[in-house]
Amino acid sequence: MGTPLESRTEQAEELVDRLEEAYPDSTISLRYSNRLELLIAVILSAQCTDERVNTETKHLFEKYDGPEDYANVPEEELAEDLSSITYYNSKAGYIKDSCEMILEEHDGEVPDTMSELTELSGVGRKTANVVLQHGHDVVEGIVVDTHVQRLSRRLGLTEEEYPEPIEQELMDLVPEGYWQQFTHLCIDHGRATCTARNPDCSDCVLADICPSEKGDSEIDLASGEHW
Ligand code: SF4
Repeated sequence: MGTPLESRTEQAEELVDRLEEAYPDSTISLRYSNRLELLIAVILSAQCTDERVNTETKHLFEKYDGPEDYANVPEEELAEDLSSITYYNSKAGYIKDSCEMILEEHDGEVPDTMSELTELSGVGRKTANVVLQHGHDVVEGIVVDTHVQRLSRRLGLTEEEYPEPIEQELMDLVPEGYWQQFTHLCIDHGRATCTARNPDCSDCVLADICPSEKGDSEIDLASGEHW
C-alpha cells in the first residue's frame, strides 16, 4: 500500500506529473477527420473499445459524408453498417436523430455548447465534453470514462461512485490546464498497467502514492472490495 500525499490536490498534481512522464504522447485514440465524425465516433464508443470503433468507422466514414447522409438513410441500413458495435441498433437511432437535429436546428454544424450538445440524442455530458475539447478546443470539464472513474477512486482522489460527481470533485483538484490531458493519461495508464481486473502494481509509477497498491493493501478502493 502506498502513502498518498497530504492533500488530494497534491496527489492529483503528482499523478499528472508522473503519468505525463510515462506517457508523453498521450492523446485521444478515436480516429476522425471532422467534428461530425468525432461526434459519431464518441457515440459509438460507449461500452465499446476505441479499436473496434476505429475499425468500423473506416468504412462508415467512406460511405457517409455529412449529416444529410445519416439523416436520409433508413435506420435499418445504418444499423447494418454498424453491426460489429455494441448496441448498434440504439446507436444507429441516436446518430440518425442527432443528424436530423443538427440539420434542423444548427445549420448542419455540430454545436459548440454543452447545453446544445447534450440535447442531441445519445449525447451525455461525457460525450459532449469530448466533442467540445477535441472538436471545438473548448475545455469545460473533465471527461470521466471508466478508466478515469477507476483510477481516481483507486488513487484516493474521490470516494464518489458516479461520473458526474467524480467530475465535479476532479475539477477542484486537477489544475485547469490539465483537465483534458488528465483523461488521456488515466486512459493510457488504465490500459497499460492499472487494468480493471489485474493491475500490475509491481510495475506502476504510482505505487508508492497509491492507497490501493496491492503489496499490503487488502482493498481495491475502486470497487471497495478485497483484492
Ligand atoms: S496499478 Fe496498482 S499501484 Fe498503480 S495505480 Fe493501479 S492500483 Fe495503484
